[in-house]
Amino acid sequence: MKILAIMLIAALNNAAFAAIPSLPDPADAVFTGGNIYTVSEKQPRAEAIAVKGGKIVFVGTTAGAKAHIGSGTRVIELNGATVVPGLTDSHYHLMGVGLREVNLNLEGTTTLESFLAKVKERVDKTAPGKWVTGRGWIETFWKPQAFPTRQDLDRISPNNPVLLTRADGHASVANTAALKVAGIEKTTADPFGGEILRDKATGEATGMLIDAAQGIVRRHVPGMTEAERADALRLGIQRTLSLGWTQVHTAGGSFADAELYKKALANERAKLRIYHVPHGPGESANRLIREGAAVGSHDGKFTMRGIKVVLDGALGSRGAALLEKYSDEDTTGLLTAKPEEVRPMLIGALRNGLQVQTHAIGDRANRIILDLYEEAFKAVPPEQRKIKDPRWRVEHAQIVTDEDIARFKKLNVIASMQPSHAIGDLFFAPSRLGQKRLAGAYAWQKFLRSGTIIAGGSDAPVERGEPMIEFYAAVARKSLTGESGPGWHPEQAVSRQEALKMFTIWPAYAAFEEDLRGSIEVGKYADLTVLSADIMTIRESDILKTKCVMTVVGGEIAYDGR
Ligand SMILES: [Zn+2]
Repeated sequence: MKILAIMLIAALNNAAFAAIPSLPDPADAVFTGGNIYTVSEKQPRAEAIAVKGGKIVFVGTTAGAKAHIGSGTRVIELNGATVVPGLTDSHYHLMGVGLREVNLNLEGTTTLESFLAKVKERVDKTAPGKWVTGRGWIETFWKPQAFPTRQDLDRISPNNPVLLTRADGHASVANTAALKVAGIEKTTADPFGGEILRDKATGEATGMLIDAAQGIVRRHVPGMTEAERADALRLGIQRTLSLGWTQVHTAGGSFADAELYKKALANERAKLRIYHVPHGPGESANRLIREGAAVGSHDGKFTMRGIKVVLDGALGSRGAALLEKYSDEDTTGLLTAKPEEVRPMLIGALRNGLQVQTHAIGDRANRIILDLYEEAFKAVPPEQRKIKDPRWRVEHAQIVTDEDIARFKKLNVIASMQPSHAIGDLFFAPSRLGQKRLAGAYAWQKFLRSGTIIAGGSDAPVERGEPMIEFYAAVARKSLTGESGPGWHPEQAVSRQEALKMFTIWPAYAAFEEDLRGSIEVGKYADLTVLSADIMTIRESDILKTKCVMTVVGGEIAYDGR
């Protein structure tokens, strides 16, 4: 009886198969009629992609894709739109982007007065005594190019404490009320890794706080609730996907951020891939070294396997650590982490298979971190490492001597660079650095020619965080309005093929994911960015007019702008 039953079921199964005339294994979705750049040398161009279970099962012609279309297959007609592998931003402050959406966004203010007007508007709507915080101003766009002062802010906010962070996050201006809450007086000493700018005549604080000095005031700003942070994250993720990013590397944060990200991925089915990199040295780094990396949870969308170190400040606020003095001030910048605290953390990270990503902008910071990496590589030989090639990174690598550029390749260190920084900074970099040092500034071609790959990013919200701005900056090396100037080194611009790799396959390598993503190939995740124009052939200036039409992550449409 039992055997008969099994035979009967088998017969029914066969009958069921026979009833479907066409496909044994149809795709979930097929994208057809596209102008596809695969970033795969085996098959550089294609028209169609079939997806099943979140992965690519076919790449080829529209006619060839027909064989994958069954009755349940979703067919998406691309109408000739350009498709590239899902873009990745290798240096992105996801929470910062979300918070910029909910707080006061000071991007694009062109004069001190327009900046103050925007702040006043917010102050007038804020209850007496409550804090006003914001981010995004850049004084180098103003005339004169001078930092704002507490007196400027006192004019529009005598009572509410105000703290406004420069776009780069390395400096903030506070008004007198905020300085008072924080207890900053004439006699207050500069903290390690920071500076309280003072009036040269009176010695009083000007309101400008550089790097670690910002913390003296910031710790008095009331924190956000978990629900408010979750809201900010939701807005940040939405904005990120709508711009065409399919993955971001978070460049700093905490375990609390990790929990928030995982909740968004699990409960809200957020579709952005997040490669999270908590800060170190300190508690987060120690915990990660102790507990080990988390790789590819939440359908491959969440990974935490790196530690972000911040070794110096930024060039704009003269915090970048230089080997020789700034050309326009009597300082060499500052270190924001102590090598003796970084050293043991590097050993632990190397033994336990963690990546280290160190922010180093000035040539001195770059040399110090390469020295520290080299020392750690010698102290922990490959056989004592959980991962033999740790793929450690230097974030920014903005001003680097020729001999240190060569050491990146020698040590197999990845340069993680942000093209938009160059086209913003080159307006003031010549006065900060002088012509000679500019030869090694934002030196993309020097890195590529020496055999080092570049993981491209935007550093949003330090910059706008838009992929087309980054792609344009990388290939044009001109300002958004087409300006260039002496010392801009146009020969350091990259080709469009190289720029595309900077935001696809090289970030995938920098995240140990080159077998999973970064190109459009069978077996990889179906992560795609669909664009309104062919960025590989259009006029340079038209790149900036190009829009993201659709963002696809793991075969699912995460943003649809059609
Ligand atoms: Zn950053």
